[in-house]
Amino acid sequence: MTSLAPLPLASKVTVLRGLGPARAAALQEAGIDTLRDLLWNLPYRYVDRGSLRPLGSLEMRGFDAQDSGLVTVLGAIQDLRQSTTRVQRMALTEVLLADGTGTLRLLWFNQPYLGRSLKVGDRLLVFGSLFLGRHGLEMRGPQFEFMERGGDIGWVRRYLPLYRRLGPLPGRVRQKLVAEALTRAHFAEDWLPLELSKDLPDTLTALHLLHDPPDESEPQALEAGTTPAHRRLASEELFAFSLGVALRRAGRMLRKGLVVPTSPELRERLKGFLPFPLTSAQRRSFKEIVEDLTSGRVMNRLFQGDVGSGKTLVALLSMAMVAETGGQGALLVPTEVLARQHAASFRRYLGEQAGSMQLLLGGMKAAEKRAALARIASGEASYVVGTHALFQEAVTFHKLQLVVVDEQHRFGVKQREALKEKGGDPHWLVMSATPIPRSLALAVFGDLDQSVLDELPPGRQPIATRLHKPEFAERAWEQVRRELAEGHQAFVVSPSIDPSDEGKVQLRDIQAMEALLRGIFPDEAIEVVHGRLKPDDMAARMARFVAGEAKILLATTVIEVGVDVPNATVMVVDHAERFGLSQLHQLRGRVGRGTQRSHFLMISGSETERLQTLVETQDGFRIAQRDLELRGPGEFFGVKQAGLPDFQVADLVRDRALLLRCREAADRALALGLSGAQTEWLRREQARFKLAEIS
Ligand code: ADP
Ligand code: MG
Repeated sequence: MTSLAPLPLASKVTVLRGLGPARAAALQEAGIDTLRDLLWNLPYRYVDRGSLRPLGSLEMRGFDAQDSGLVTVLGAIQDLRQSTTRVQRMALTEVLLADGTGTLRLLWFNQPYLGRSLKVGDRLLVFGSLFLGRHGLEMRGPQFEFMERGGDIGWVRRYLPLYRRLGPLPGRVRQKLVAEALTRAHFAEDWLPLELSKDLPDTLTALHLLHDPPDESEPQALEAGTTPAHRRLASEELFAFSLGVALRRAGRMLRKGLVVPTSPELRERLKGFLPFPLTSAQRRSFKEIVEDLTSGRVMNRLFQGDVGSGKTLVALLSMAMVAETGGQGALLVPTEVLARQHAASFRRYLGEQAGSMQLLLGGMKAAEKRAALARIASGEASYVVGTHALFQEAVTFHKLQLVVVDEQHRFGVKQREALKEKGGDPHWLVMSATPIPRSLALAVFGDLDQSVLDELPPGRQPIATRLHKPEFAERAWEQVRRELAEGHQAFVVSPSIDPSDEGKVQLRDIQAMEALLRGIFPDEAIEVVHGRLKPDDMAARMARFVAGEAKILLATTVIEVGVDVPNATVMVVDHAERFGLSQLHQLRGRVGRGTQRSHFLMISGSETERLQTLVETQDGFRIAQRDLELRGPGEFFGVKQAGLPDFQVADLVRDRALLLRCREAADRALALGLSGAQTEWLRREQARFKLAEIS
């Protein structure tokens, strides 16, 4: 390759040689548009080609038609034939490879161009698995390299990188494109701070090490993504991302926020809302919130705490801060059940002032809704609790100063924006009912300040947790019987079953569970709730359980969040394997809300090791971390588009410690002033990293 001008990484891949429209389209379809995309898409596997095998020594090792092992052979083309298969009319390329000890048939389907590039006499290094065909041993669609021709691969590497297959683009072509991109691409001056880059290879070297690993590489580390080369690329992504977050945050600090006035009288009035002394974690969090509200900056705070740690009370106090000083606070919750529940507890806390609270639900009758909207618009309602109905255009606020979002990840970015437009620039408090591991919280909510309730209100007992195999389910029902006999209530949770799963797996659905429960507990009042009920009906059924009229509540995960019935002391979860650990922990938080000892019983015949985590610990943050490790960030949130940045190399689970270091390094870099190389990099690359659009 001669002196071609270096290509910026943002150049289209079509500048590379040998990339016709069909192959370019295949790349494009896979999101590979630029040289950068091509180079940063790393192999997913590295095959150790091991030592070469003489053709005469090849044999099938098993009885299967396909031998499980992969082999590498070296030989010359003795015969070459192009034909079309009779049945499917596919182009068939057949090669007879010979090495002096024996021969081997190689077959390729649908790659007619191979017939043109291969010639009798070419020496090939071939790699693939063996099949037993009609004419003896053969390889179908093997990978190969020319030994002499072209000179681009002059010697044989031990590791063969494998890439995700992209339509008609053979791995060999992909490798060539990568090799060309590596020689021709221009790499900017290093912009990683020294504290991150020391001991790491530079970017170009790192890419070489990963696309064309030297023989002494550690294949496990290559595949696990833990080599220094990976660390270089991951650090770049995480540092650039952190820098973006830090800049955004700095920008927010410059925005003028509504100053909520405070006074000793106000403090006294707020104390009046407290039915019990705050825990020290609640006091600390509330203090952090008050500092934000009075600072003149716009609050954007993530408020995390385990189930039952008392977030709602702190949220109420924060809303009271603005409500008591002439503003309005809105609490946004994901379901109507939860909205009613919050409204009820707000009414309790507010006592005489409960009249200043207004509920707004999508399912309200027209007249009722009109009245609610009027009260919100006039400012008569200073506490507003509602579902996404709050986003609707018809809703106008008198003086919206604080928005509290419960269960943040169920609300999309757009909805938050919609609400933001209803008030000047209100303060945001984002409550997460599921503890989020720190690395993930930083990645998704990097721009948010954080308060954490790491302490439960006093007097809570751990919830006795057990896992029963389906054949021992009777033990769970026995416990339910005991609790009911003492006048307590019980939850039973059934997984919501996707119709596409039916028939595939043996699952007991909610109807079957209802029949079972009515058989076991014929004299008990049972209510059944699930997501397909009309809101009115659902509310009425829940109300009967809350009032203690129904003793057993059979539900899908609609009860996952918030539902507060202190008299319920036992929960049974059927098919526990269908739930994430954090979700189960969240469910567990529905019991143990009173002073009585409570029980959480899972029924499951599989994944016992994973579920055992819940038996072993009650620490929501530890459970969340394990859940994240097992299921990955997207599944952890239960939605793919949770605002996760799309890193190509960095992995939020594997690289969590690195993210924390990058975050600190970014803060330091910003405090010291960015280097020219860093500013330049940000300008070019920042758009690649999506940030949670909250502020
Ligand atoms: P979260 O929203 O964090 O899951 P809640 O705010 O619903 O938790 O509180 C759980 C329960 O604990 C509620 O019944 C609440 O009244 C009670 N609680 C909250 N704070 C305290 C406290 N400081 N002392 C005693 N009980 C508390
Ligand atoms: Mg709550």
